[in-house]
Amino acid sequence: MFPIATNLQGVYQARDAAIARRSARFASPVVLIAVSKTKPILDIEAAFSVGQRAFGENYVQEACDKIHALAALRPLGIEWHLIGPLQSNKAKLAALNFDWVQTVDRLKIAEALSRYRVEARLPPLNVLVQVNASGESQKSGVAPEAISDLSMSISRLPGLRLRGLMSIVENTPDESTLRHQFRLLRKHFEALHQEQPTVDTLSMGMSGDFAIAIDEGATMVRVGSLIFGARRVLGPYNTLVTVPSNE
Ligand SMILES: *Cc1c(COP(=O)(O)O)cnc(C)c1O
Repeated sequence: MFPIATNLQGVYQARDAAIARRSARFASPVVLIAVSKTKPILDIEAAFSVGQRAFGENYVQEACDKIHALAALRPLGIEWHLIGPLQSNKAKLAALNFDWVQTVDRLKIAEALSRYRVEARLPPLNVLVQVNASGESQKSGVAPEAISDLSMSISRLPGLRLRGLMSIVENTPDESTLRHQFRLLRKHFEALHQEQPTVDTLSMGMSGDFAIAIDEGATMVRVGSLIFGARRVLGPYNTLVTVPSNE
Protein backbone atom coordinates (compact mmCIF):
# COMPACT_ATOMS: atom_id res chain seq x y z
CA MET A 1 0.00 0.00 0.00
CA PHE A 2 1.04 3.62 -0.51
CA PRO A 3 2.37 5.39 2.59
CA ILE A 4 -0.60 7.75 2.80
CA ALA A 5 -3.07 4.86 2.88
CA THR A 6 -1.03 3.09 5.55
CA ASN A 7 -0.66 6.29 7.58
CA LEU A 8 -4.39 6.96 7.37
CA GLN A 9 -5.22 3.47 8.52
CA GLY A 10 -2.93 4.01 11.51
CA VAL A 11 -4.67 7.27 12.39
CA TYR A 12 -8.15 5.71 12.07
CA GLN A 13 -7.04 2.89 14.38
CA ALA A 14 -5.58 5.30 16.93
CA ARG A 15 -8.76 7.38 16.78
CA ASP A 16 -11.00 4.39 17.27
CA ALA A 17 -8.86 3.11 20.14
CA ALA A 18 -9.07 6.52 21.84
CA ILE A 19 -12.87 6.57 21.36
CA ALA A 20 -13.15 3.08 22.85
CA ARG A 21 -11.09 4.09 25.90
CA ARG A 22 -12.78 7.36 26.73
CA SER A 23 -15.62 8.13 29.09
CA ALA A 24 -19.03 6.89 27.99
CA ARG A 25 -20.48 10.37 28.55
CA PHE A 26 -18.87 11.42 25.24
CA ALA A 27 -21.27 9.72 22.87
CA SER A 28 -20.63 11.46 19.56
CA PRO A 29 -18.44 10.12 16.75
CA VAL A 30 -15.09 11.79 16.03
CA VAL A 31 -14.62 13.21 12.53
CA LEU A 32 -11.08 13.14 11.16
CA ILE A 33 -10.02 16.15 9.10
CA ALA A 34 -7.02 15.30 6.91
CA VAL A 35 -4.95 18.49 6.84
CA SER A 36 -3.51 18.70 3.34
CA LYS A 37 -2.04 22.22 3.36
CA THR A 38 1.12 22.50 1.20
CA LYS A 39 0.55 18.94 -0.06
CA PRO A 40 -0.09 18.09 -3.72
CA ILE A 41 -3.37 17.05 -5.29
CA LEU A 42 -2.08 13.50 -5.77
CA ASP A 43 -1.81 13.13 -2.00
CA ILE A 44 -5.40 14.24 -1.52
CA GLU A 45 -6.56 11.79 -4.19
CA ALA A 46 -4.62 9.01 -2.46
CA ALA A 47 -6.39 9.73 0.84
CA PHE A 48 -9.78 10.07 -0.84
CA SER A 49 -9.33 6.74 -2.61
CA VAL A 50 -9.08 4.93 0.72
CA GLY A 51 -12.19 6.59 2.11
CA GLN A 52 -11.10 9.92 3.61
CA ARG A 53 -13.67 12.62 2.82
CA ALA A 54 -12.96 15.74 4.92
CA PHE A 55 -9.86 17.81 4.14
CA GLY A 56 -8.45 20.85 5.91
CA GLU A 57 -6.59 23.68 4.21
CA ASN A 58 -4.99 26.84 5.65
CA TYR A 59 -4.44 29.16 2.71
CA VAL A 60 -7.52 30.26 0.77
CA GLN A 61 -5.90 30.66 -2.66
CA GLU A 62 -3.95 27.39 -2.46
CA ALA A 63 -7.11 25.61 -1.32
CA CYS A 64 -9.25 27.05 -4.12
CA ASP A 65 -6.77 25.82 -6.72
CA LYS A 66 -7.05 22.32 -5.26
CA ILE A 67 -10.82 22.50 -4.85
CA HIS A 68 -11.20 23.41 -8.54
CA ALA A 69 -8.75 20.75 -9.68
CA LEU A 70 -10.69 18.16 -7.68
CA ALA A 71 -14.18 19.40 -8.59
CA ALA A 72 -15.08 15.91 -9.85
CA LEU A 73 -14.87 14.63 -6.25
CA ARG A 74 -17.58 17.05 -5.02
CA PRO A 75 -20.54 14.89 -6.01
CA LEU A 76 -18.65 11.93 -4.50
CA GLY A 77 -18.67 13.59 -1.09
CA ILE A 78 -15.35 15.40 -0.63
CA GLU A 79 -15.67 18.14 2.02
CA TRP A 80 -13.40 21.18 2.40
CA HIS A 81 -12.63 22.87 5.73
CA LEU A 82 -10.81 26.19 6.06
CA ILE A 83 -8.67 25.94 9.19
CA GLY A 84 -6.29 28.88 8.61
CA PRO A 85 -6.83 32.57 9.39
CA LEU A 86 -9.27 34.37 7.11
CA GLN A 87 -8.80 37.97 5.93
CA SER A 88 -11.79 40.05 4.78
CA ASN A 89 -10.50 40.29 1.22
CA LYS A 90 -10.65 36.47 0.94
CA ALA A 91 -14.11 36.10 2.49
CA LYS A 92 -15.90 35.80 -0.85
CA LEU A 93 -13.55 33.10 -2.17
CA ALA A 94 -13.86 31.22 1.10
CA ALA A 95 -17.66 31.49 1.18
CA LEU A 96 -18.01 30.21 -2.37
CA ASN A 97 -15.59 27.29 -2.14
CA PHE A 98 -15.51 25.80 1.35
CA ASP A 99 -18.08 23.64 3.15
CA TRP A 100 -16.82 24.70 6.57
CA VAL A 101 -14.90 27.68 7.93
CA GLN A 102 -13.42 26.77 11.32
CA THR A 103 -11.67 30.06 12.05
CA VAL A 104 -14.40 32.66 12.54
CA ASP A 105 -13.29 35.03 15.29
CA ARG A 106 -15.11 38.27 14.54
CA LEU A 107 -18.58 39.31 13.50
CA LYS A 108 -17.44 41.31 10.45
CA ILE A 109 -16.03 38.18 8.79
CA ALA A 110 -19.10 36.17 9.74
CA GLU A 111 -21.39 38.78 8.16
CA ALA A 112 -19.34 38.83 4.96
CA LEU A 113 -19.36 35.02 4.69
CA SER A 114 -23.10 34.95 5.24
CA ARG A 115 -23.77 37.65 2.65
CA TYR A 116 -21.71 35.95 -0.09
CA ARG A 117 -23.30 32.61 0.67
CA VAL A 118 -26.83 34.02 0.40
CA GLU A 119 -26.02 36.00 -2.76
CA ALA A 120 -24.77 32.82 -4.44
CA ARG A 121 -27.86 30.91 -3.28
CA LEU A 122 -25.69 28.30 -1.64
CA PRO A 123 -26.82 26.36 1.44
CA PRO A 124 -25.64 27.82 4.77
CA LEU A 125 -21.90 27.56 5.39
CA ASN A 126 -20.92 25.52 8.46
CA VAL A 127 -18.86 27.64 10.82
CA LEU A 128 -16.93 27.21 14.03
CA VAL A 129 -15.94 30.00 16.37
CA GLN A 130 -12.20 29.88 16.96
CA VAL A 131 -11.27 30.16 20.62
CA ASN A 132 -7.91 31.22 22.01
CA ALA A 133 -7.66 28.55 24.68
CA SER A 134 -4.11 29.10 25.82
CA GLY A 135 -4.30 32.88 26.21
CA GLU A 136 -1.08 33.29 24.19
CA SER A 137 -1.22 36.81 22.73
CA GLN A 138 -0.03 35.89 19.22
CA LYS A 139 -2.80 33.31 18.78
CA SER A 140 -5.97 34.13 16.90
CA GLY A 141 -9.37 33.31 18.29
CA VAL A 142 -11.78 34.93 20.71
CA ALA A 143 -11.33 34.92 24.47
CA PRO A 144 -13.62 32.39 26.17
CA GLU A 145 -15.74 35.23 27.62
CA ALA A 146 -16.63 36.35 24.07
CA ILE A 147 -17.84 32.96 22.77
CA SER A 148 -21.43 33.43 23.79
CA ASP A 149 -22.02 36.87 22.22
CA LEU A 150 -20.28 36.10 18.93
CA SER A 151 -22.11 32.77 18.66
CA MET A 152 -25.46 34.42 19.30
CA SER A 153 -24.81 36.95 16.51
CA ILE A 154 -23.66 34.23 14.11
CA SER A 155 -26.74 32.14 14.79
CA ARG A 156 -28.89 34.98 13.43
CA LEU A 157 -27.08 35.14 10.07
CA PRO A 158 -29.05 33.42 7.30
CA GLY A 159 -26.01 32.25 5.30
CA LEU A 160 -24.27 30.51 8.19
CA ARG A 161 -24.88 27.46 10.33
CA LEU A 162 -23.17 27.65 13.68
CA ARG A 163 -21.74 24.21 14.44
CA GLY A 164 -19.46 24.85 17.43
CA LEU A 165 -15.93 25.67 18.51
CA MET A 166 -12.42 25.20 17.18
CA SER A 167 -9.16 25.76 18.98
CA ILE A 168 -5.42 25.31 18.64
CA VAL A 169 -4.01 24.55 22.06
CA GLU A 170 -0.52 25.36 23.24
CA ASN A 171 2.28 23.59 21.42
CA THR A 172 3.75 21.70 24.35
CA PRO A 173 4.70 18.10 25.14
CA ASP A 174 3.32 18.54 28.66
CA GLU A 175 0.30 16.26 28.84
CA SER A 176 -1.29 17.90 31.88
CA THR A 177 -1.23 21.34 30.22
CA LEU A 178 -2.81 19.86 27.10
CA ARG A 179 -5.48 18.03 29.09
CA HIS A 180 -6.27 21.15 31.07
CA GLN A 181 -6.81 23.22 27.91
CA PHE A 182 -8.84 20.51 26.14
CA ARG A 183 -11.00 20.07 29.23
CA LEU A 184 -11.76 23.79 29.44
CA LEU A 185 -12.68 23.83 25.76
CA ARG A 186 -15.07 20.94 26.31
CA LYS A 187 -16.70 22.95 29.12
CA HIS A 188 -17.12 25.98 26.84
CA PHE A 189 -18.53 23.69 24.14
CA GLU A 190 -21.11 22.17 26.50
CA ALA A 191 -22.13 25.60 27.76
CA LEU A 192 -22.57 26.81 24.19
CA HIS A 193 -24.60 23.74 23.31
CA GLN A 194 -27.02 24.66 26.11
CA GLU A 195 -27.51 28.08 24.51
CA GLN A 196 -27.41 27.01 20.85
CA PRO A 197 -28.86 23.55 20.21
CA THR A 198 -27.46 23.32 16.63
CA VAL A 199 -23.96 23.22 18.11
CA ASP A 200 -22.52 19.71 17.76
CA THR A 201 -18.83 20.13 16.93
CA LEU A 202 -15.71 20.63 19.02
CA SER A 203 -12.64 20.71 16.77
CA MET A 204 -9.43 20.24 18.76
CA GLY A 205 -6.32 18.06 18.57
CA MET A 206 -3.64 17.64 15.89
CA SER A 207 -1.00 15.00 15.00
CA GLY A 208 0.82 15.25 18.31
CA ASP A 209 -2.12 15.30 20.68
CA PHE A 210 -5.30 14.09 18.97
CA ALA A 211 -5.68 10.99 21.16
CA ILE A 212 -5.63 13.20 24.28
CA ALA A 213 -8.11 15.59 22.64
CA ILE A 214 -10.48 12.69 21.92
CA ASP A 215 -10.09 11.50 25.49
CA GLU A 216 -11.17 14.97 26.66
CA GLY A 217 -14.23 15.10 24.39
CA ALA A 218 -13.22 16.28 20.90
CA THR A 219 -15.80 15.55 18.18
CA MET A 220 -13.41 16.53 15.38
CA VAL A 221 -9.62 16.26 15.11
CA ARG A 222 -7.32 17.84 12.51
CA VAL A 223 -4.38 15.66 11.53
CA GLY A 224 -1.79 16.59 8.90
CA SER A 225 1.76 15.38 9.21
CA LEU A 226 0.89 11.95 10.59
CA ILE A 227 -1.04 11.27 7.37
CA PHE A 228 0.87 13.16 4.68
CA GLY A 229 4.35 13.38 6.20
CA ALA A 230 6.17 16.45 7.44
CA ARG A 231 5.65 19.79 5.70
CA ARG A 232 8.19 22.33 4.51
CA VAL A 233 7.80 25.19 6.94
CA LEU A 234 8.99 28.76 7.16
CA GLY A 235 12.03 28.94 9.40
CA PRO A 236 13.61 31.95 11.08
CA TYR A 237 13.72 35.02 8.83
CA ASN A 238 11.23 33.28 6.50
CA THR A 239 13.81 30.93 5.05
CA LEU A 240 12.34 27.69 3.76
CA VAL A 241 13.49 24.74 5.79
CA THR A 242 12.53 21.17 5.06
CA VAL A 243 11.46 19.13 8.03
CA PRO A 244 12.55 15.48 7.68
CA SER A 245 9.67 13.51 6.24
CA ASN A 246 8.44 10.28 7.75
CA GLU A 247 7.45 8.95 4.32
C1 LIG B 1 -1.49 22.51 10.21
C2 LIG B 1 -2.63 22.45 11.11
C3 LIG B 1 -3.08 21.23 11.65
C4 LIG B 1 -2.39 19.90 11.43
O1 LIG B 1 -1.14 19.89 12.05
P1 LIG B 1 -0.30 18.53 12.21
O2 LIG B 1 0.53 18.76 13.39
O3 LIG B 1 0.48 18.38 10.94
O4 LIG B 1 -1.27 17.43 12.38
C5 LIG B 1 -4.23 21.25 12.43
N1 LIG B 1 -4.89 22.39 12.69
C6 LIG B 1 -4.49 23.58 12.19
C7 LIG B 1 -5.27 24.79 12.52
C8 LIG B 1 -3.35 23.64 11.41
O5 LIG B 1 -2.95 24.84 10.94
